[in-house]
Amino acid sequence: MAALARSVLVTGSNRGIGLELVRQLAASPRPPQHIFATCRDPEGPRGKALKELAAQHASIKLVQLDTVNLPSIRGAVGAVGSHLKDQGLNLLINNAGVSSHATLRSVDPQEMLAVFATNVVGPLQVTKEFLPLLEQAAKGTGKEGLSCGRAAAINISTKLASLGLCLGVPEAPMYPYRASKAAQNMVTRCLAAELQDKGILCVAIHPGWVKTDMGTEKAPLTVEQSVRGILTVLASLSQDASGAFLDWEGNCLPW
Ligand code: NDP
Repeated sequence: MAALARSVLVTGSNRGIGLELVRQLAASPRPPQHIFATCRDPEGPRGKALKELAAQHASIKLVQLDTVNLPSIRGAVGAVGSHLKDQGLNLLINNAGVSSHATLRSVDPQEMLAVFATNVVGPLQVTKEFLPLLEQAAKGTGKEGLSCGRAAAINISTKLASLGLCLGVPEAPMYPYRASKAAQNMVTRCLAAELQDKGILCVAIHPGWVKTDMGTEKAPLTVEQSVRGILTVLASLSQDASGAFLDWEGNCLPW
């Protein structure tokens, strides 16, 4: 089986789903040649597990990237671009995110704006700044149609943001989180419509409810199961998936 993509970048890869994405990509039988594992502080204590993982795989390159800080994003684009020379970036996974359990009673403007900054503005800015590298990959692979092996921006979303499902508020009173991820979903749809003619696939993926710091121990899925599913889904994506909202098993979700 061919590698998922020649080059992959994951945001928020120092823990949780992001760390496991990097771990499984690096351990796959045909790993990507370049795995850009990005996080806010690769040299600090929060980057320890990722640094240890990177020490075991030559394909992993650690890159500092705070998704809400424009100079940091631009620094990462420079570092990734010079590493890839003129080949471009095939697969961008916007995974970094924050949760918020604010209810109607407790929600305040600062928290709402902070969650929107990370979950909506962050992935949009990251995609915007990496676009030249994605376009370069889309033109340079010699592949037709849309796929993660050619060029793709994948946004990690959540079922809780689905307006169609509108899962019960009493079970998940998370106003900032749900509203921000619904806004991120619209960003995904807009990007998909605008970028498909440039050969870039854009898809939103719900990873399931996963045992991470965010998902808590109560979640039914292990991070290994979720990420195995996500990577299988990513490998199967083609033209038809442009602008889709899928879960970790490949099921279509209503927006
Ligand atoms: P975690 O809380 O375990 O990890 C979140 C990651 O995002 C951390 O690496 C964190 O870095 C990073 N991050 C947060 N803000 C920024 C920023 N400004 N710049 C760079 N990195 C940042 O969450 P999960 O792994 O569970 O979640 C990953 C994604 O999956 C999120 O988008 C989340 O919304 C989504 N998701 C998760 C579900 C679950 O059940 N776990 C369910 C549905 C969706 P740091 O260590 O520096 O804080």
